Amino acid sequence: MKLLSVVVPCYNEEENVALFYEELTKNDTFFREKDVELELLYIDDGSADKTVEEVKKLREKDERVHLVSFSRNFGKEAAMFAGLEKSKGDYVVVMDVDLQDPPSLLPEMFSYLEQGYDSVATRRVTRKGEPPIRSFFARMFYRLMKKISKTEMMDGARDYRLMTRQMVNAILSMREYNRFTKGIFGWVGFQTKWLEYENVERARGETKWSFWKLLMYSFEGIVAFSTAPLQIAAFMGVFFCIVAFLMILFIIVRKLIFGDPVSGWPSLVCIILMTSGVQFFCTGILGQYLAKAYMEVKKRPIYLVKEEC
Ligand code: UDP
Ligand code: MG
Repeated sequence: MKLLSVVVPCYNEEENVALFYEELTKNDTFFREKDVELELLYIDDGSADKTVEEVKKLREKDERVHLVSFSRNFGKEAAMFAGLEKSKGDYVVVMDVDLQDPPSLLPEMFSYLEQGYDSVATRRVTRKGEPPIRSFFARMFYRLMKKISKTEMMDGARDYRLMTRQMVNAILSMREYNRFTKGIFGWVGFQTKWLEYENVERARGETKWSFWKLLMYSFEGIVAFSTAPLQIAAFMGVFFCIVAFLMILFIIVRKLIFGDPVSGWPSLVCIILMTSGVQFFCTGILGQYLAKAYMEVKKRPIYLVKEEC
């Protein structure tokens, strides 16, 4: 008999915990026929509401339900990592508790693993129900990443993914502190089947991602999977040196031909402002990488568990 672990990060999701359980267990007969046992891991990411109580209530009814509760909010990335680490399954699937990752897709996903794929990933082909500005920035992000990173990242890709134990172990071997799972999935490779589906809106409650949080998350992705910004900074340095050299030549020639009338103060101020702006910008880029490196060398744990059952 094989074991399938379902990893579900939850942050203030009291209304969705039971709802998700109901939807997921609709697949029970399918998996029983396939001789696959289920293990359901709710990862409570430091919720302030009754999420933990809700999970415990489910656990009383069904022993397949497990809880890992964090000491505070560590973020979805940490919750996913904890789930993968605690999972014992021969197959592991990561999904959101808000039913935006439809559990009804699981049988189809599983059939692809049986065909020999190492992982089955999902992507939304529409972004219906999402604020247009958010969709716009999301699309820009993926287009940019395609250009500046060697790691493959699919537009609209969800974290909803079914994997074999081999792939899970590969992901667990990447113990970086600044985690960007969408990149990590691509980086480890393995044969992946992509399934597409229409966007589903959240069952209950509200999204935990503000626009600002998403923007910061996208910077994380860039710094974690590309060093292009550092190269751009270096190129800008070279570019400004060339411009400066040409200007020196120009000034010398002008002096030889026309003498040296004192003028050009406004242009000088503009040049100083611009070059110092570029310098700050490049120092900032450097700082971003340094900050991430700083966090990595500290080797802090990715998450801390308060309670587990
Ligand atoms: N989540 C989490 N920790 C956080 C934020 C979110 O574990 O700090 C979980 C959340 O409970 C949900 C999933 O991550 O199961 C996706 O979050 P959400 O639905 O808010 O994001 P969206 O679908 O809007 O991108
Ligand atoms: Mg959601």
